[in-house]
This record gives sequence, C-alpha cells and structure tokens, in this order.
Amino acid sequence: MPFYVTTPIYYVNAAPHLGHAYTTIAADVMARHHRQRGEEVFFLTGTDEHGEPVADAAHALGLEPQELADRNAERFRALAPRIGASNDFFIRTTDPQHEAKVQEVLSQVRDNGYVYEGTYEGWYCPRCADFKAENEIDEGNRCPIHHIELTREQEENYFFRLSAFQAPLEQLYAEREDFVMPRTRYNEALSFIRTGLRDVPLTRHKLTWGVPVPWDPEHVFYVWFDALLNYYSALSYAREGEDLTAQLWPASYHLIAKDILRFHTVYWPALLMAAEIDLPEHVFVHGYLLMEGEKMSKSLGNVLDPFAVIERFGADALRFYLLREVPFGQDGSVSTSSFELRYESELANELGNLASRTIGMLDRYRDGAVPAAALDPALAEDFAGLPERVAAHVDRAELTLALEQIWQRVKRLNRYVEEQAPWRLAKEPERAQELDRVLASLVEGLRSVTVLLWPYLPTSAERLLAALGAPELGLSSAQLGAGEVRRVSAIDSLFPKDPPAAGA
Ligand SMILES: [Zn+2]
Repeated sequence: MPFYVTTPIYYVNAAPHLGHAYTTIAADVMARHHRQRGEEVFFLTGTDEHGEPVADAAHALGLEPQELADRNAERFRALAPRIGASNDFFIRTTDPQHEAKVQEVLSQVRDNGYVYEGTYEGWYCPRCADFKAENEIDEGNRCPIHHIELTREQEENYFFRLSAFQAPLEQLYAEREDFVMPRTRYNEALSFIRTGLRDVPLTRHKLTWGVPVPWDPEHVFYVWFDALLNYYSALSYAREGEDLTAQLWPASYHLIAKDILRFHTVYWPALLMAAEIDLPEHVFVHGYLLMEGEKMSKSLGNVLDPFAVIERFGADALRFYLLREVPFGQDGSVSTSSFELRYESELANELGNLASRTIGMLDRYRDGAVPAAALDPALAEDFAGLPERVAAHVDRAELTLALEQIWQRVKRLNRYVEEQAPWRLAKEPERAQELDRVLASLVEGLRSVTVLLWPYLPTSAERLLAALGAPELGLSSAQLGAGEVRRVSAIDSLFPKDPPAAGA
C-alpha cells in the first residue's frame, strides 16, 4: 500500500509562520514513519498563488501578480528544509501542468452536467477570497476571520451544482466514519452538509489572475477549486516523464487546519464525485496553536517565532515540542517558556542524558564494546509490541499519542539505570555478568527508541544511531532485540543546555 500525504498549499500572500511549520512537520512525521514501514511514500506541499488577494497585493507593490508569487513562493519552498521536512515535491498552482490539469478536470465536471451559468450575489471577504453565508457573518457585516467589513458583490458566474451532492455526501459520511478526523470535525462537517447545500460559484468573472476557463475565457476558475485540485494534479507531473496518479491516488491523508474544513470536507469530495475521481481516504483536521488566547494566523501575527527556535535549538527541538506539547488534533497553547521547559526537562535531561550516560558507561566499563549478553526480560516486557503500538497511532494521525508511547520507554530506560545502578555493579567484579546484561539491555533499548523517534527527531536520531553503529531505520528494526549494537563511539551532547545563538 502506498502512502500519500499532503499539507494544504500555503497562500503566497503571507510569510511562513508557525502554523505552516506545524502542518508541514506533522505531515513529515507521517511520511517518515511510513517510509520506515517500507511503503512507497509521497509527501506533497506547495503554494496557492492565484486569486484576488495576491493580485491586489502585487498591484499595491507595483508588481505583476506572477512576480509577487515567484518571490513569495520561494520563502515557502525554503521553509521545508529548514524544518527538516522531506517532501517529495513542491507544487505551485502557477505551474502550467497544474493549470492544464485544472482545466481538464473542471471541463469534465461540466461535461458531466454539474456546471451552469447564473448570477451570484452575496457578502464577500476579499481577504478570504470567499463569499460568506448569512450564518457566517459577524456583527457589523464583518468577516469572522479578518474582522474587516464585507462587501456586497454581484457577478455573472458559472456555478458548481454542489446541491446535487447533498445525498451522496451524507452517504459518504454514513459509510466512512473516518473520512474526516477527528470525530468533532466529522460532526462539524456533517452538520454543515445537513443544513442543506447550495450551489457555489465555480468561476470569477472580473478577475484575471487565475486559471482561465477553457469554455469561456472571460472567466477564471474560483481560486479554491484551482487550489484543491493541486492534490490530484501534482501526481501527473511531480516526477519527470512519469504519471504517478494511478499508483498513488487517492491520497491517504490530507492534513489541514480547521479554518479550511468546509472546502476540504464538503466541496472537495463533491468536486471529485462530479469528476468521477476517487475520494481521498482521510481528511485530518488539526487544531490551532494558541498564544495568549489568540489563534496562530497569517493575518493576526504570532509570538513563538519558529525560525528563532530553529536557529538556537535546531529543527528537531521545534518538531518535538509542537507534537509533544499540544495533542495533535486539538487546540492547545504554546509559548516560549513551555518550549524551554520541555527542551530542558525532556530532550536534554531525559533523552540527551540517557544517550550520554549509556555511551559513557559502555566506554568506561567495557571500552566502548557492547557485551554479548541476553536482554533483561523485565525490560523486554516493557518494550513488547512497541513499534506496532506506535504504528497504530500514526495510522490514525495520533502523532502525540504515538510520541507518548515512545517517550514512556525513554523514561523507563532512565528508571532502569537508576534501579540497576551500573556504577555499583562495576565495583563488584563478581557481578560482571549482571553489568554486561544491564549495559547490553540499556543500549539496545536506547537504539530501539531512537529508531522510533526518527520521524520526530530526524537529525538527532541519525546522529545517535551513527554513534551506536546501528543506522538501520526500518520499523521492524525498532523491535527490542532486533538490532545489533557492537561498539559505541562518543557523541557530542545531542541537546546542549542553553545553546548559544547561531553566530554568537
Ligand atoms: Zn476574511
């Protein structure tokens, strides 16, 4: 089974911020975990570049929209490597191959009878590039997201017959309770569907910055439909000279934040049904990272600066913190103070110390050679079935629960050191065999958790596994006893306390 995971494509009008990093990191953890399982994995991210807000921002700067898109897309392309993301492709909706695919699929939707001409009138937020339904408008005719006044717009459009998919969508939700996850988001999407679906504009007439409608060049496609189709179009040209669609579609997971829930859980499946394309397996809706009660937002600014964190503590620390601090799928608070607390108490004290102590004791007591001793059955019991448990959580995008499973064993290994007190055994030559067993068990436990931590802490895990001389990353090698550490070598502190700022 191949595994295909996507992030939303990020709107080029914003600068990359913590919210973008969060979704991309989560998708990366899933992609890396599935690669560990030996599956064919494809991980897609990219940028959404059309629509009124980009055109407006470009004109305000005296630029063509394409120039602004080119400039800003680069910042998002650069985000992935900075946070350690291993995406297989970076799509831009201004890619000509994407545009051609949008035209092809939406022409199919029209040929299938789901497009008609009409007049749309409604309240419109130019920042959202979206019309608002009556029940979504804040007091004073304001956008609930941007708090700006909405404008009354009327235009001649082609419409997508969304209403035709009311019953098919209800059936989809009845048959596939994990189509939208977690459950609260499934309920939210289903109740929106049940309030009754109205047809929506598929095209915009007055705009030119978009994919031209092939049957009426006076129009461009509405940016949301153009954007959603990236998940599908990318497969047709991501790999030079190959079309991966048959191999990789449908997507396994679309990861999104809840502000784009309706587009992904209602419009998107309806559009795919209209085009007779298979539906994705899961849409997983993660929560917001909250700072002082305000959600992370491209418009409202942020406080915990991911780039400052990376510069000082490394990308691994940011990845770990975000997935450890806030249960993935729920809203939760983040702050620079809780970051520093977790960095010190967990990464430095629990994992970092475990690694340096284990390697240090092997070095001191056995000259770095790992004794050939049977593993301690008490420890083996605590590790039994661990990779399977982690995999079961990741299968449901429960990335924080998976990490908790692993971290409990990190803590277990630290307790094991305290219980066994190898430094006391080392003073009693007649207990050398006991010491052999403790050291062999400890280093094998460390290796096992490190393999499982690789999706979360790729750089640190690879460094540590190299020091253990056991670079295998496959999930089956994470089983306690599956590895063979023969000799360890010294390693610099994985998570130094109070690291200097870069360049200092
Ligand atoms: Zn808005």
